[in-house]
Formats: sequence, structure tokens, C-alpha cells
Amino acid sequence: MKPTIIDRNFDINKLHDSAVNVASRLNDKGFEAYVVGGAIRDLLLGKTPKDFDVATSATPEQVHALFRGSRIVGRRFQIVHVRMGRDIIEVTTFRGHHSDAENSNTAKQGRSGVLLRDNVFGTLEQDAIRRDLTVNALYYDPVEDTIIDYTDGLKDIDAERLTIIGDPETRYREDPVRMLRVLRFQAKLGFSIESNTKKSLTDCAPLLAQIPAARLFDEFLKGFLSGHAKPLAEILLQTPLWQELFPDSAQHIGVKPHYRPMLIAAMGNTDQRIHAGQPVTPAFLLAAILWPAVAQGLELALARGEPPIPAMQSVGQEVILRAIERVAIPKRFSIMMREIWDLQMRMDRRRHRKPLEFAQHKRFRAAYDFLSLRAQAGEDVSAVVDWWTQFQLEHPELESHRHQQQDEPRKRRRRPPRRRPKS
Ligand code: ATP
Ligand code: MG
Repeated sequence: MKPTIIDRNFDINKLHDSAVNVASRLNDKGFEAYVVGGAIRDLLLGKTPKDFDVATSATPEQVHALFRGSRIVGRRFQIVHVRMGRDIIEVTTFRGHHSDAENSNTAKQGRSGVLLRDNVFGTLEQDAIRRDLTVNALYYDPVEDTIIDYTDGLKDIDAERLTIIGDPETRYREDPVRMLRVLRFQAKLGFSIESNTKKSLTDCAPLLAQIPAARLFDEFLKGFLSGHAKPLAEILLQTPLWQELFPDSAQHIGVKPHYRPMLIAAMGNTDQRIHAGQPVTPAFLLAAILWPAVAQGLELALARGEPPIPAMQSVGQEVILRAIERVAIPKRFSIMMREIWDLQMRMDRRRHRKPLEFAQHKRFRAAYDFLSLRAQAGEDVSAVVDWWTQFQLEHPELESHRHQQQDEPRKRRRRPPRRRPKS
């Protein structure tokens, strides 16, 4: 197949020297090497890319040998991380088609077509058609100063359209995470999705169940902490993929009219913070995503006559345990989620006792923001929010206390963990 080759038509100043240096150095040593992926896509769209990928004919070992301080990482895909000053450039060897492999050690396919290992090396053309989307398969050649396009990616850039390379169903089967990537790029770029690429999303959604929970958490972070969480949530909620990622949320979100607006508002809030350069935590988003399940569980527990605070704790625990079967939320975040939930209950009960002490809880502000979003979404908690809003206005010292807390270095654990007595 003959590629389309055009002269570079993006601002070269926005392409990091380090990425070009890595590719040029490989070229000097007689290998083919190009800058590829999101960086070229974003440059063509006039955006400033944040990370850089290089594709080369050199093997991971050859790349590693050429760059001091580089590291070979990854199992499913072997990648070389090349450090150039402050940047890390991800260098991948051209991948071939797995069915061309004579040796089953380099490529391995699971029963449903999923690729378990994918380290078969190939040519530039093979590498292009192994990529996920046409807009992600554009190569910049630093030697010729041209863009190489095997998959009509340039047309899709112009048309602002996301198209899976090859047969979408086959490609989703090989790697179901591609479905999440398509929607992530839709949210980020505002592109439309080509009809076959879109149609197969619905059919293939259940394949996501095969993906390890740890990889889904990584993908969750990429999608939701990049400043486009709100459009992504709106998109995902319209597909069966939400059910695959957060079954408990999908099951309960329709029960009360305020659950969905609350979740969307939490996403919008995080996006704003990211754009303003403020710190964000995935715990806040996950607390909002799972809130419908927690609130419904709590309602049932209260109806059974359980006391509110222990009820909230046990419901929170159960919801987390179910959630981590699909998306592996690390402990430090799930602890924070449970604190935010617990405080929802306590804010109402404790405010008349020692409010100043209470407001110094390290999760108070997050819990207050969470409660405000619930009120905004139409839940009947406005009186509590107003009370705490007023209280904080009357106690400006709380703000500086919070900054101190954030600046404090992490405390070391003083005591060794207590052993459970043997039963
Ligand atoms: P971002 O802006 O999020 O970095 P990106 O397109 O660079 O977007 P990466 O995850 O950095 O995405 O991957 C780099 C490139 O590797 C992609 O552009 C794509 O060509 C290819 N790629 C990544 N993941 C897959 C996948 N699951 N299947 C096929 N190709 C992939
Ligand atoms: Mg990238």
C-alpha cells in the first residue's frame, strides 16, 4: 500500500526537540524512526501536545543500548522510556501483525480474540495499521520533514472524525480498551465517531469484563483527570460501557432525579479545577460516581432501623468492595472516598456540637464541596450547606489551617500495625 506523504503543516516549534532528537539519533544509526501518535494528531489540530511517542525499526534492546538511562518497560507491549532532560519519550518498535508470527512466544491471543502479548516486530506500514485510530497513525519524519499517512488519518483530521483502523469489532476484540480510548478522544477532541466504529461499541461493550481491573483504573485516570471528565461522563453514560466500568452506579443512577446532575456537576467541577491549575483527586470523582449506590444503600439501611453513622460505614465498605472488582481503586483513594461519604452524614448531625473542631477534619472541605454539589443538583440538603457556608465565613482562620495541613510533610507511622489476635 502506498502512503500519502505531505509536507509538514504544523508548527515545528511546538514539537519538542527531545522527541525529534530521539528520532534523529536513531536515524543516524541507520534505523527508521518517526514521531507518531497523539503528539502529531494534536499538532495538526493546533494543540500543544503533552507527551511524545517515537516509532522505530530498532528493537527495544537496540534502542536501550543507544540511550543511556533508558529503560525497557511493559509486558503486553515492550516500550523503551528514553529520558531526555526532563522529558520521557516512549519509543516503540514497529509492530507487525500477530497472525504473521511464526513464534507463539511473541504474540499470544486469548480465546475471545484478545491479544495477551503483542511483541511481533514489523514494518512501518504494519505498524500503522496496528494502531487504534486513523488520526493516531500519522508519522512525522524528521529527516524529510514530512508526514506519512497510511490510513487516511489526514482526511479524518480534516473531517474531525474518529475511525478505527480495520474492522472495528475485530480490533475491539483484540483489545477492548480501545472502546474507552475512542470515547476518551471524542470527549477530548469533540470529534464525531464514524458509524461502524460507533456501532460495534455497543456490541462489544461486555468484552471490557476481560480487562484487568488495574488497567481499567489507569484508563479511568487518563480519561477523567485530563480536563474533559464532564463530556466523557456524559458520553459514557449513554453507552453500555458505564455499566461495565461501574455496575453499581449504572444500576442506581436513574433511581432519583438528582443523582445524574450531581455526578455531572462533580465532573465539571474537577475539569474547572484542572484548567485553573488546582489540585484534584480521583477519590472525589469516584465518590460522586458511586454516590447513587451509596445513597440508595443507606436509605435501605436506615429503613431497617440501623443507626446512621455505622450504616454509612458499612454501606460505603460494601460499595467499594464491589467497585474494585471492575476498576482497581487503590486503597489511599478508597479511604478518602469513605471519609467523604461518612462526613456527609456527620455534617448534619454534628454541626451543633464542636463545629470548629469538626471543620478542621482533613476531609472537611472535600465533604463540604460534595454536599454543595448534592444541594446544587436538587437534593434537600441546602440548609446544611448554607449553615456550613456561613460558619466558614465567620471563621476565616479555617482556610489558613487547611493550607498548613496541606504543607505538612506526611507523618510517619509511629507504631507498628497491631496484629490481630489469633482466633
Ligand atoms: P494522549 O494524548 O492521551 O497521549 P495518544 O494518542 O498519544 O493520546 P497514547 O496512549 O499515548 O495515546 O498512545 C500512543 C499511540 O499508541 C496512540 O496514538 C496509538 O497510535 C497507539 N496506541 C495506544 N494504545 C493503543 C491500543 N490499545 N491499540 C492500538 N494502538 C494503540
Ligand atoms: Mg501519547
